[in-house]
Amino acid sequence: MSSLVHRTCPIVLSAPSGAGKTTIARALVRDSEDVVFSVSATTRPARDGEADGVDYDFLSETVFRAMIEADEFVEWAEVHGHLYGTSRRALQAALDEDRFLILDVDVQGAMQMRERVPDVVLVFVLPPSADALVERLAERGTEGEDTVAQRIENARAELEQASRFDYIVINENLDQAIEEVRSIVSAEGRRADRAIDLSDRIRQLQAQIDRILAEDFVSPRK
Ligand code: 5GP
Repeated sequence: MSSLVHRTCPIVLSAPSGAGKTTIARALVRDSEDVVFSVSATTRPARDGEADGVDYDFLSETVFRAMIEADEFVEWAEVHGHLYGTSRRALQAALDEDRFLILDVDVQGAMQMRERVPDVVLVFVLPPSADALVERLAERGTEGEDTVAQRIENARAELEQASRFDYIVINENLDQAIEEVRSIVSAEGRRADRAIDLSDRIRQLQAQIDRILAEDFVSPRK
């Protein structure tokens, strides 16, 4: 039997900085044709190795604020002193292509998505330990001391929101965490309420059963 046709949906990955969610999101997109990464806009300066339009759309605060005014973001938030947002256009383009859109956003953005996009699936990535979190942030070496401290403090507050998410993945082992998020995407893509052609398929099966009952089927008891 061929598979059903399903609507795709946006999948939000949130986590405290340093929990590894960006690595998970990127790996998922690299290995799955039906998953695309949502490139956010931000006013944060690009880090070494980051490319405009690939990692983020790096915008000035003036441009970002004009986009807020024009209601171009489906969600946006201030995180660690910079503005970050997901454009409505990018969200719609991915869904129009029947691809799952992975959004790497903070918990404020995740909650806005829940309010505004009923179909969204929220995944929270937990670090295996506080030490691992601090180590990853320090290793990254892209922020000054203050910013690392600020991020650790924010991480503590963000953990409060974990229970509001649909799924929790603990990133103890990266490959396993990627596999777990992949299976969430896969399961969500099989939900009955996302199957566009389910009622046609059921009607077809019922019609086939009716034919079997009427023509071929001889009950052993008769
Ligand atoms: P970073 O500066 O380390 O790339 O990201 C900092 C935080 O901003 C991360 O928690 C990341 O998930 C979040 N972030 C990135 N893009 C967006 C976005 O479009 N919207 C919101 N709300 N948060 C975002």
